[in-house]
Amino acid sequence: MAIATVNPATGETERTFEPHTDAEVEHRIANASAGFEELSRTTFADRAGWLRKAADLLEAGDIARTMTTEMGKTLAAAQAEAGKCAKAMRFYAEHASEYLADVPADAAAVGAERAYVRYQPLGVVLAVMPWNFPLWQVVRFAAPALMAGNAGLLKHASNVPQTALYLGELFLRAGFPSGALQTLLIGSDRVAGVVRDDRVRAATLTGSEAAGRSLASVAGESLKKTVLELGGSDAFVVMPSADVARAAEVAAVARCQNNGQSCIAAKRFIVHAGVYEEFAAEFVKAMSQLSVGDPMLESTDVGPLATEQGRADVVELVGDAVSSGAEVLVGGEVPEGDGWWYPPTVVSGVREGMRMYREEVFGPVAALYKVDGYGEAVELANATAFGLGACAWTSDAEEGDRFARDLEAGLVFVNGMVASYPELPFGGVKNSGYGRELSDLGIKEFCNAKAVWMG
Ligand code: NDP
Repeated sequence: MAIATVNPATGETERTFEPHTDAEVEHRIANASAGFEELSRTTFADRAGWLRKAADLLEAGDIARTMTTEMGKTLAAAQAEAGKCAKAMRFYAEHASEYLADVPADAAAVGAERAYVRYQPLGVVLAVMPWNFPLWQVVRFAAPALMAGNAGLLKHASNVPQTALYLGELFLRAGFPSGALQTLLIGSDRVAGVVRDDRVRAATLTGSEAAGRSLASVAGESLKKTVLELGGSDAFVVMPSADVARAAEVAAVARCQNNGQSCIAAKRFIVHAGVYEEFAAEFVKAMSQLSVGDPMLESTDVGPLATEQGRADVVELVGDAVSSGAEVLVGGEVPEGDGWWYPPTVVSGVREGMRMYREEVFGPVAALYKVDGYGEAVELANATAFGLGACAWTSDAEEGDRFARDLEAGLVFVNGMVASYPELPFGGVKNSGYGRELSDLGIKEFCNAKAVWMG
């Protein structure tokens, strides 16, 4: 895949970039290694100061337009993403030292004078990141990693090179050492070489299952720690006691946020028979009212899909379901013209055997299912290889607790849309990956929890 900015709203290539040569990659790895040494001589207060400055620069700048041009999310969504990143930077600037403070252990029980756990950074960490939240995915790795004292190498998706270069410069402009976070302009075929380099101690990847497997196997061979945040095909369960109108309204947003390309977007809508007709009608209405168009306009809810291949994948999955008997309740037609548009779509009658039943649809397409009770709802919700972020709608508190217990996912939200917050751990189970980002767990992923025993 060429490293280029191709505007998904028009299909036009706006800028292309030469990949870094091997010598340039070597220079950056050496600089990262030196950057780690430099960071290890800094204090939490130094790093917090630079991270707060990065947040200020981000808020004062205008990267949102570039994000929209590169991957098609609405300008409003891009601006909100930049704001969320600034908030997360300030969050880690404030909390990192408390999260990584020494933790006293029971010295007497282990026959020591003093015993404690000390958290120390691992070194250079490679971050392989996707285009869908081109700032947020990077910042939610970089803010905690840099606060812990690690250095980062960013291999961003090939279709967001300008956002990738901006991020490398942002941390430098904020005062971090030049080796603290650098962008590598390389294709995915050169990731393995970087992972194998002795100076790189760990890697994190957000993206598809295939990319995760590939990175993890290379990291496994060289015994390096990985964190993987992969796809999801999350359930949105609606029970009879739910506020159905509210659930349907949120369902349309949950499915179509980021033009339907979010790992935690609700993708499978599992509705109790008692409220199925009501929910389906409200949901289809809400989906059909979303305005699809120029992502730069304030009035637009849904822009184009990010890549031509991404749209082709969505067309193929819907086509497969329809050819086996599924019914399109709204959307489903590719519009004429340039760019990679796909309308908000609801499909009912999806059954086992259809690809949509088991695969993630990375676009604004909802699969609607009818179930007869709690047990069937949970069984269907869990009948997926993924387990990222599920949600359930019920006004019965005891039932809400049961969903929290029974849904196989890294996050469960009751009566709300799944989202990520710096205060809560984020990550999946099953094929959605392993490890956690955000919160205190996220910052500890790339630390050595060193047990110290003093006699
Ligand atoms: P990919 O997983 O292919 O890309 C994500 C990142 O991984 C990019 O930086 C990519 O680089 C890199 N990459 C790809 N293959 C490898 C590999 N073998 N080894 C190391 N790095 C690799 O996502 P796509 O954009 O192709 O989207 C495909 C599907 O992935 C989507 O339809 C969706 O299901 C899922 N996805 C999930 C995301 C999430 O948030 N969990 C985000 C994006 C996609 P390059 O761009 O150079 O190929």
